Amino acid sequence: MHVDMMAGSNMLNTELAGVQANLDTLAFACRILYAKGHMASLAGQISWRDTFSHGYWTPALGSSFACASAETMVLVDDELNVMSGSGIPNPAIRFHTWIYRHRPDVQSIVHTHPTNVSALSMLGVPLPVAHMDACMFHDDCGFLPEWPGVPIGDDEGRIITEALGVYRSALLVNHGHVCACASIEEAIYLAVSIEKAAETALRAMAAGTIKPVRDDLAQAAHDFLLQPSIVNATFNYWRAQV
Ligand SMILES: [Zn+2]
Repeated sequence: MHVDMMAGSNMLNTELAGVQANLDTLAFACRILYAKGHMASLAGQISWRDTFSHGYWTPALGSSFACASAETMVLVDDELNVMSGSGIPNPAIRFHTWIYRHRPDVQSIVHTHPTNVSALSMLGVPLPVAHMDACMFHDDCGFLPEWPGVPIGDDEGRIITEALGVYRSALLVNHGHVCACASIEEAIYLAVSIEKAAETALRAMAAGTIKPVRDDLAQAAHDFLLQPSIVNATFNYWRAQV
């Protein structure tokens, strides 16, 4: 019995250490988004699914992404009731809970309106994949062709979840992007990468006709670029900068 209790206690400590490590990663993720120009206003959110606490961690509304820490996060349930931390969540993360419910593979979501993704979203075309550095979006970026207007309640969740489908990301016309990924690191990697892909696509579209990457080569590059070793090394490179 005593041994069982000890084992249970050790498991609990391991779980809690895992949560703390992910909250530290989430804080660095916020700082990276800020440093990369994604968070000029309150528009945009990030969240992480905590399977231990059965909730979602997200920055408290109005807390600065520039100096985010584990202490500036709040834990919310499916109805956005605060279970831990001080402050309230950004109410716009209601659509995140929709995605989490429909995509058990998704552990972290980033949604922002950075300049180049926003500009591309105004043209009403899907994200072109025409550069090797954009191949992580090959056959992995959904497209919402109509902005549904100011979203109300669960409508936004349903619409964005449908646009996302089985993909890791989606371009939302007249709006921005959403990245729904297997880890915080992958969500940041794609959020930063889609802004870069949109920037280069816009420059190329202004200069001439885009030449897409060949399908088979794009698929191989997609798989290469999304290896966890590359995703995590890139995240850590940015993490060191902030
Ligand atoms: Zn938005």
